[in-house]
Order: sequence, then structure tokens, then C-alpha cells
Amino acid sequence: MATRPQALILGAGIMGLCTAHALLLSGWDVRVVDQDVPPNPRGASVDHHRLIRHAYGAQAGYMRMVDDAFAAWRALFAALGEAPYVETGVLAVDEGQGGWLRDSRAGMAAHGIEVHALDAVSVPQSFPCFSGIGIADAFFVAPGGVLLAERIVALLAARLVALGAVFERATVRGIGPQSLRLDDGATLTADAVVVAAGPWAPRLLPRLPVKASRQILVRLAPPADLAAAWAVAPMLLDLSPQGGFYMVPPVAGTPIKVGDHSFSMTGDAQDDPREATPAEAEAILALARRRIPRLDEYRFLGAAACYYDVQPKEEFVVEAIHPATIVMSGFSGHGFKFGAVLGQAVANALADDNLMPALPGWAAGRDAAVPGLLNQRVTA
Ligand SMILES: Cc1cc2nc3c(=O)[nH]c(=O)nc-3n(C[C@H](O)[C@H](O)[C@H](O)COP(=O)(O)OP(=O)(O)OC[C@H]3O[C@@H](n4cnc5c(N)ncnc54)[C@H](O)[C@@H]3O)c2cc1C
Repeated sequence: MATRPQALILGAGIMGLCTAHALLLSGWDVRVVDQDVPPNPRGASVDHHRLIRHAYGAQAGYMRMVDDAFAAWRALFAALGEAPYVETGVLAVDEGQGGWLRDSRAGMAAHGIEVHALDAVSVPQSFPCFSGIGIADAFFVAPGGVLLAERIVALLAARLVALGAVFERATVRGIGPQSLRLDDGATLTADAVVVAAGPWAPRLLPRLPVKASRQILVRLAPPADLAAAWAVAPMLLDLSPQGGFYMVPPVAGTPIKVGDHSFSMTGDAQDDPREATPAEAEAILALARRRIPRLDEYRFLGAAACYYDVQPKEEFVVEAIHPATIVMSGFSGHGFKFGAVLGQAVANALADDNLMPALPGWAAGRDAAVPGLLNQRVTA
């Protein structure tokens, strides 16, 4: 009887788990090593929500990849027996004439996505929880919404166990060709290794062009009289030059979440405190105050620090660092939406050496996918 190939996955965040799932469906045996237990609140993949949207500025490769991402999520949700996703639509506004909205609009229109033009008057008319103050440019796009991240990670981890994956709780100290060295000195080997260490990657692989970046998010509950308006609110991307922010509406019993677009480019995922200071929280609230009327009447539910793994051009780094040893990194605060499709692509590339050269350029948003890279296996 032919033996099944063995894969070792470092990291039980969305990237490691999605890759593990795709490998299991392709006939691999899988062992997942993580210092924590999924869903891991220290990981970049775990809080209530992550956004998925086509608006991508000049990064048209990622805009196009969102269609593949949606297809991969649909297949994964069918396998999980649940679809932890809430469609909200996407509202983007800018108080300046920066190019991000213009580039997004042009890219989506060329891709056949209907983009509804809005302005300072029609934004609050359409979405009463937002003010139109200062808006110079705005649009709404219906596709797009909220992936319920923690739920997805929890379901996926349970599914992997049911499919026979082995989870090992250990800290990895070193990475070699098809091997991981653990902190007890043991070395694990396999036919293939995937390193999906999130914002810890710069510690393990200091030569990667990736830096950990401390980011703050604030959670809020709206006043009772605004609950109906918030129940139909879209996600908000505010690109205003005085400080952009994103806002996730309160879907499926989750709080409103506000975070900023700029990268701090400081901090360390392992050692830094995860509590946000009052000053850090206030800096986020200050960005949102102008766009969300009566913000000071909202109930403050807390603020926390999380970590991105930032690549300077915000391009994903998914490539072989040794034979059959792939790193998945550089997700720069926008990787979750692509977790399912990236996992599929990495599994396909590990199964077929001919696909491997196409993986980095596609994952960086530069090149179209070659045939075979995104093939899905949907049954176990
Ligand atoms: C607050 C926030 C908001 C975001 N919003 C969005 C969004 O709206 N849309 C979007 O698409 N993306 C978003 N992102 C980005 C996205 O969530 C991340 O790109 C993605 O989750 C990264 O997943 P990962 O599996 O690579 O990392 P992680 O989830 O961090 O998983 C890495 C795992 O590796 C383990 N690990 C690391 N080093 C070691 C070691 N040495 N030994 C053992 N285990 C180790 C860690 O314990 C961790 O569990 C956001 C990220 C954050 C933090």
C-alpha cells in the first residue's frame, strides 16, 4: 500500500489551517505545530471579524483574487457545514482627492462590478449612522462583508481533527529543509513543511522582508436609538488624508470595531502587552469621531493591540525557502480574506512541482494564476 505523504504545518492561524485542510483533502497526513491552541487570540487571525471586499486601490491583482477568494470560502463553508459570513456591502469615503477611491473604482468597473457613486449629501441619507462632513469622494459596492474569523478558525480546527490531523503544542525555534526544530531540541521532519507564523515570522526568519506591526482596535456598542441604523450599515473604509480608518458594523451579535489604516511598524507579537493604552484607544476614536456622529455616546467596550506581518509593498510572501518548505507571510493586515484560496494554492503547488514557480508572483498580486494552481478538492 502506498504511504501517504506527510506535511508539517507551523502555525494554526487561518493560513496554516486552510493549507492543512487543502492538504488533507489531497491525501496528505498533516501535523500542525503551534505554541498556542486554536482559536488563538494572540494570533492575527482571531477576533470577531475580518473584512472581504473588492475595493483594492491600485492593487488590481488582489481585487481580481477576491473572486477566487469567495469561491474558496464557499467550498470551505460547504465542507464546514456552516457559512460564518455576513454580507454588508462596502462604503468607501475620502475627504481628499487621493487616488485610492479612483483606482478602486476604475479597477472594479473594468472587472464588471457595479460601483454606486455617493457624495457628502447621499452618504448620510443612505447610511444615517455616518456623517457626510467633508466628503469629497465616496462609493458603495454591494458585494463584500464580514468573515466571522474566530468562528471560522474554531470550525476549521475541529474539522481538521475530524479528518485526522494531529495538533502538537510546541514552540518552534528553527526551520530547516523539510524540518522544524522545537524548543525541547527535537527535530520534526516531513515531505513538506509550511511556515505560517503570522506576525512571529520575523523572529523565526529574520531575512524575510517582513516586519511585525502593532495595531490598535477599539470595540463599541451604539446607543439604543441607533441600533436599527447600524443593523443595515455597511463596512466603512475612510481614506481621508488626516488619518484613515476602517469600521466593521455590529453583525451577528459582534461589537462595532474601529481600527486605523496606517502601520505602526513597531512591536513584537510575542513579548508586547496586548492591552491598548488609553492614549492608543483615543487616537483611534479621534479618527472616527468626525465620521460617526455622537461617537461619545457609544459604549466603549474595550481596546486591544494586535499584530500585522507587514511587507513594504503590502504584497504577500508565499514562496519556497528550501525545497518543499514554504513560507506564508507578509499579509500586511489584508490576508485573512485570502486564507482559503491561499491554502488551496499552496497545497496544489506542493503536489505539483510545475506549479511552484507560479506561486510567489500570484500570491504577491502581480501575476494571474496558472491553470491548476487554484483547483479545489471539496470532499474528504
Ligand atoms: C486586527 C486585525 C485586523 C485585520 N483585518 C483584516 C481584514 O479585515 N481583512 C483581511 O483580509 N485581513 C485582515 N487582517 C489580516 C489577517 O487577519 C492576517 O493576515 C491573517 O490572519 C494572518 O494569518 P496567519 O495564519 O498567517 O497568522 P496567525 O493567525 O497569527 O497564526 C500564526 C500562528 O503561528 C503560531 N506561531 C508563530 N510562531 C510560532 C513558533 N515559533 N512556534 C509555534 N507556534 C508559532 C502562533 O501562535 C499563531 O497561532 C487583520 C489582522 C489583524 C491583526
